[in-house]
Amino acid sequence: MVDRTTPEFRSYLELYEKASLHELGRLADDARWKLHPENAVTYIIDRNINYTNVCVADCKFCAFYRRPKHPDGYLLSYEEIGRKIDELKSIGGVQILMQGGHNPYLPFEWYLDLLRYIKRHHPIHIHGFSPSEVDFFAGRFGMTIEEVIRALMAAGLDSIPGGG
Ligand code: SF4
Repeated sequence: MVDRTTPEFRSYLELYEKASLHELGRLADDARWKLHPENAVTYIIDRNINYTNVCVADCKFCAFYRRPKHPDGYLLSYEEIGRKIDELKSIGGVQILMQGGHNPYLPFEWYLDLLRYIKRHHPIHIHGFSPSEVDFFAGRFGMTIEEVIRALMAAGLDSIPGGG
């Protein structure tokens, strides 16, 4: 639990509210060099898998999604997702970034079974479900955010991307 009364937290909050983007960038770079002084940057090979483009969020900037019942809407099967993971692994990939639209047709069990299926048949690090999807699941399935995350993790989710 973050202690919001500490001077350190207050200074972070002040930075968040008042610092310019460039100033934040410079401070972030300073912090990066403090934590990792060696002059090396590493990377992993991963693959984005967008399991469905059906979405009801209607983000104005998004050209990816399709409303329910649109003829271009799609949902990948578990087997199709598994094949994409196998392709990734064949070139040395170690992680999938798996995100999709807010699809109103899918029950929560569909996501849990998908995670279990991947871990059982195509094991890999699953970085998945943006915060907006987690929030959507909570509202749609009458759960708290914490319950959603715990259930996803128990089924195989390893980490959650920051975007979305
Ligand atoms: S939630 Fe994602 S898929 Fe849906 S409209 Fe927004 S950006 Fe597009």
